[in-house]
Amino acid sequence: MVNTVYVDNAATTAMSEEAIAAMMPYLRGNYGNPSSLHTVGQNAKEALEEARAEIAALIGAEPKEIYFTSGGSEADNQAIRSAAYTGLAKGKKHIITTAFEHHAVLHTLKKLEKEGFEVTYLDVHSDGLITAGEVEAAIRPDTALVTIMYANNEVGTIEPIREIGAVCRAHKVTFHCDAVQAVGHIPVNVADDNIDMLSVSAHKFHGPKGVGFLYCKKTVPLRNLIEGGAQERNRRAGTENIAGICAMAAALKGAVSRLGENMAKEAALRDKLIDGLTKIEHSKLNGSREKRLPGNVSMCFEGIEGESLLLLLDAKGICASSGSACTSGSLDPSHVLLALGLPHEVAHGSLRLSLSEYNTEEEIDYIIAEVPKVVEYLRSISPVWEELEKGERPHLI
Ligand SMILES: *Cc1c(COP(=O)(O)O)cnc(C)c1O
Repeated sequence: MVNTVYVDNAATTAMSEEAIAAMMPYLRGNYGNPSSLHTVGQNAKEALEEARAEIAALIGAEPKEIYFTSGGSEADNQAIRSAAYTGLAKGKKHIITTAFEHHAVLHTLKKLEKEGFEVTYLDVHSDGLITAGEVEAAIRPDTALVTIMYANNEVGTIEPIREIGAVCRAHKVTFHCDAVQAVGHIPVNVADDNIDMLSVSAHKFHGPKGVGFLYCKKTVPLRNLIEGGAQERNRRAGTENIAGICAMAAALKGAVSRLGENMAKEAALRDKLIDGLTKIEHSKLNGSREKRLPGNVSMCFEGIEGESLLLLLDAKGICASSGSACTSGSLDPSHVLLALGLPHEVAHGSLRLSLSEYNTEEEIDYIIAEVPKVVEYLRSISPVWEELEKGERPHLI
């Protein structure tokens, strides 16, 4: 097989035809600024509000609770800073999160710590899950915010968000959820799931890059991150990315309309991959097998470097990841795998395969045939593997 096998959909996805089609009219003819009072501008405004209403309905929100942003990172930054400063105004300076959030969350919290906020980083269990009880036990009278992701971008585990949301409601603590890996992939409904603020990014569900949204419940105050014009009900300045927003709405509509079918298809391919790859000796699936995204396979192979594995797989046309796209290029093992308690040596040998509705069974068979060969080759030239085989160091998995 010489075609590209793209299994890095947690990093980004190909745009769907429906998303591209929805974008085109706003790139060519309808170039108006929605803030303009003339017809060309008002046509754009109409498209913007239609997209907002469509998106709101797809997650169980009201249109006025949707704020368009430049993507998931901006939505995370705005939600967290807004809730933190709103809390601070009432004397609350404590925030609860997990140790394995996306860096858009963790780096924002690090900055807030420097400003005097206190952050509790809940440990995740070795299966990549936390419990609502653990969140509840960490809540203090001065807790301003709980921010916990819906599904992890590296190991694909799905957290008990509805229960965590219920605990936050009971204690009157604002609950933000980074749902970038969840929306469009598993059912998400902000009302049923007790979510106050939700971050979403279009390019993770076959929409364009550089566009996303923040849901903020109408009873929860929202502060600006970006100052300027009065767009987005005064909460996010800047001329709206109409083409991107319309494409995002179309992509989400497509993803949600095919949700059941896509989940079943991807889960079957995922399970075949897991069964095939866990046959490799001294390998391990990272995170719960049951509570995981339909498209996520995260593995560790002892005695190899994930980076080398990726490069050799790329040479065979397989585009995968060793973890998060954001940490590739750094030699530190992933903070997510370390948070699951994996030893450094094991975490270095990681491989993430993330599927989409476009993957085929033929591609999965190809991956199952090729990965063992590459792992075997890398082990044959690995001094660490030699030590493991000679019994000079113990196998950890
Ligand atoms: C991709 C991702 C983000 C960042 O979204 P961008 O639109 O790329 O800024 C945030 N959180 C999670 C969990 C992600 O997977």
